[in-house]
Amino acid sequence: MAKKNYFCIKSEKMSKGPISQFIEHHYRHFNAAALVDAAKGYETHLLEGGKMLVSLAGAMSTAELGISLAEMIRQDKIAIISCTGANLEEDGKSLLHDYISVEELRACTTCNACVEECPVSISPLDIIVELRRSLVMEESNAPAEWNGMFSNIENNFAPWKFSPDDRDAWTNQA
Ligand code: SF4
Repeated sequence: MAKKNYFCIKSEKMSKGPISQFIEHHYRHFNAAALVDAAKGYETHLLEGGKMLVSLAGAMSTAELGISLAEMIRQDKIAIISCTGANLEEDGKSLLHDYISVEELRACTTCNACVEECPVSISPLDIIVELRRSLVMEESNAPAEWNGMFSNIENNFAPWKFSPDDRDAWTNQA
């Protein structure tokens, strides 16, 4: 959106509802006045074509913000909402198992396509790898075929079943 000049901003001033009018009239000092200043800054930011990211953590992250802020999102007053994962914990569910199954996690071939195409520049593959690591380290949940390799790494410091002392044994047979 093109940047608007001052007169354009003035002519497009957002209409004030009863709550805004109440706040403007009564919130005059200290923290209350700072809230009014912040709201005016937000309004100017939007009128100048800026975008707003709302970031919330803790208890508010459970407030079904997509629904609470739906009208503001529709009116393009909020472009992005960023919440902590607390809402997942508080609803008694976990990302792994309740939202992503072990089968889905293991289906990833680590091709990196999602990282290259991601429109918000996060790295889904890092998350997938960490979830896989958590499965193995925290839940000892690995395919049976991998267990031999894990035990070899632990005992022989390599994926093979030979003792480290025998690694050069082949040279005697050459
Ligand atoms: S790296 Fe991303 S795109 Fe590739 S298989 Fe895994 S999840 Fe799918």
